[in-house]
Amino acid sequence: MKKRVLITGAAGFLGSHLCDRFIQEGYSVIGMDNLITGDLKNLEHLFPHPDFEFYHHDVTKYIHISGRLDYILHFASPASPIDYMRIPIQTLKVGAMGTHNCLGLAKAKGARILVASTSEVYGDPLVHPQSEEYWGNVNPVGPRGVYDEAKRYLESITMAYHSFHKVDTRIVRIFNTYGPRMRLNDGRALPTFIGQALRGENITVFGDGSQTRSFCYVSDLVEGIYRLLLSDYVYPINIGNPDEITLKDFAEEILKLTGNTVKIVFKPLPPEDPKQRKPDITKARTILNWEPTVSRAEGLRKTYEYFKSLPPEEWYKQPK
Ligand code: NAD
Repeated sequence: MKKRVLITGAAGFLGSHLCDRFIQEGYSVIGMDNLITGDLKNLEHLFPHPDFEFYHHDVTKYIHISGRLDYILHFASPASPIDYMRIPIQTLKVGAMGTHNCLGLAKAKGARILVASTSEVYGDPLVHPQSEEYWGNVNPVGPRGVYDEAKRYLESITMAYHSFHKVDTRIVRIFNTYGPRMRLNDGRALPTFIGQALRGENITVFGDGSQTRSFCYVSDLVEGIYRLLLSDYVYPINIGNPDEITLKDFAEEILKLTGNTVKIVFKPLPPEDPKQRKPDITKARTILNWEPTVSRAEGLRKTYEYFKSLPPEEWYKQPK
């Protein structure tokens, strides 16, 4: 009999790629989403599939699923600063009540649950690169506090359900991920730079551009999550690409890729923007035998092709 998996946040960027992967692997998939930041377009190719069901539901409300459930992947949450600053209470609620509901469902069904945490639990990190042992540097009342603390709570309640209720849990700490189905207007550096290049606008870099990021292509991330789910490792594990680049160099890479001759302009750095981000993936390498395989050049090319293929009105769409 096919294994049955519930994926929350299914209409979002990562959730929709996870739905694709689990369908490909022969699972029966229930996608759940309230569409607050997601889009059904990301899933419409799956609607005719006999093993795919979609539930339009807010996971902060009681979740009812009839029948058996083998796995839950809890990915519902606003993820980009532009979203979680616009809907801060919903962000806290989905991290707290949404995670609590998913864990309750896992307990009731005897299902294994994997929850999506983030490199943001490390805040503006004082150690570099960040290993899972680092406890982080987060300002709970800072502009990013709602997201960072929601995810720290998500990890805490997940470990509590594991130790107290013996629920079979997994925690993935995801670092910046990119690929097709991101939104051009989600405010993050990569889609912003590509969107500006597509529209022929100058590329805006905040600060002097010396702050670093590391970008993981979505298929690599999905592979890491798949391996973690099927492993027996219950502590948080970093999944991301350690190939670090400064934002200024990154903006130049995007210009080269798009063949655009616009300029790079510098604007003041937003408060509490992390200066450095780079995962230590020793655990993922040794425990999951995982490491990223898609180079930035290849991943950027695929992502650019995707954005370029969108109808041009999408290039000009304002955030929700
Ligand atoms: P996204 O905004 O594209 O997807 C999130 C989805 O969750 C959306 O479809 C949204 O409608 C849905 N959602 C939000 N609140 C909900 C609720 N209460 N009930 C039901 N559905 C709800 O974001 P994403 O980039 O795909 O991120 C997915 C998950 O991965 C998030 O939990 C995020 O914190 C985590 N994550 C992502 C990244 C990244 O680089 N993309 C990095 C770290 C962590």
